[in-house]
Amino acid sequence: MKPPKFEYHAPSTLDEALALLARYNGDAKLLAGGQSLVPLLNFRLARPAALIDLNRITSLAYIREHDGHVRLGAMTRQRAIEFSPVVARRLPLLREATRWVGHLPIRSRGTIGGSIAHADPSAEYPAVLTALEGEVVARGPKGERTLSSGALFETYLTTTLAPDEILTEVRLPVMPEGAGWAFEELARRHGDFAIVGVAAAVWRSGGRVTARLATAGAGGTPRRLRAAEEIVERDGLGAAAIEAAGRRASELVEPDADIHASADYRRHLAGVLTERALKRAAERAA
Ligand SMILES: Cc1cc2nc3c(=O)[nH]c(=O)nc-3n(C[C@H](O)[C@H](O)[C@H](O)COP(=O)(O)OP(=O)(O)OC[C@H]3O[C@@H](n4cnc5c(N)ncnc54)[C@H](O)[C@@H]3O)c2cc1C
Repeated sequence: MKPPKFEYHAPSTLDEALALLARYNGDAKLLAGGQSLVPLLNFRLARPAALIDLNRITSLAYIREHDGHVRLGAMTRQRAIEFSPVVARRLPLLREATRWVGHLPIRSRGTIGGSIAHADPSAEYPAVLTALEGEVVARGPKGERTLSSGALFETYLTTTLAPDEILTEVRLPVMPEGAGWAFEELARRHGDFAIVGVAAAVWRSGGRVTARLATAGAGGTPRRLRAAEEIVERDGLGAAAIEAAGRRASELVEPDADIHASADYRRHLAGVLTERALKRAAERAA
């Protein structure tokens, strides 16, 4: 199918894009990589009066290390993240998760801002944002605000971003030296969205273990598995504790059933993948 008619704008600055959003008063859509939006238009599931293309706003594409964080401009392509030396060194969990995102042509166009703003619960980046306690920056007519993952994701494909706001930046704390990481997921075919995915990071400091776990595909939003993290933080990274954390993870998630999998199967997967991710992360942790 072809998309319904829309007006097209390609501003070259963020201010112009914000002014256009305000002009259409909620009836325009931002176009980033188009990898989710264009199929929605073609199926006529989205019928905006206008598209505001962000691709000419070059100031929105960057990867910078600053003040203990890696800052990624919203228009940074997934492919740039996959090959960034800063990401490889400072955020290996993000790099590993990126390899699970679609196929090469999708990652060449798809952006981190688009992926997070789209809020597909099976997407990898929202889970990484949640596990690493990152934040996003949104700009609107009233200025800039910073949102945690909990404040951003509302439910399936829905965020708390206002229709006149643009997600401009993603900020992720640098992972500590010696941290171990793993992103585990099950998808039917390579490149498909995850049925369930689990992001894990662990590190030791001063004899204490810190663990970070978050899911994709196990509910309407990414879910932090705090009670499972607490098990390994208390009992260490041995096999018994990791197994117990996996069991706890499957109790913590509240997945829905859909054509791809039952809720019970997703719950089971959350446990199995948590255990696998923790095991691999622990092996990598110095
Ligand atoms: C076959 C296929 C397989 C895929 N597999 C995966 C996968 O395994 N994992 C995965 O995570 N993704 C997958 N994707 C989706 C892909 O990663 C997209 O790149 C991503 O979901 C959206 O990013 P985008 O830059 O293309 O955004 P677009 O499609 O351009 O936009 C998506 C939505 O976000 C909004 N938006 C975009 N940028 C901003 C912004 N800066 N501020 C506010 N709102 C904004 C748009 O208005 C739109 O509503 C797949 C896509 C395809 C076609």
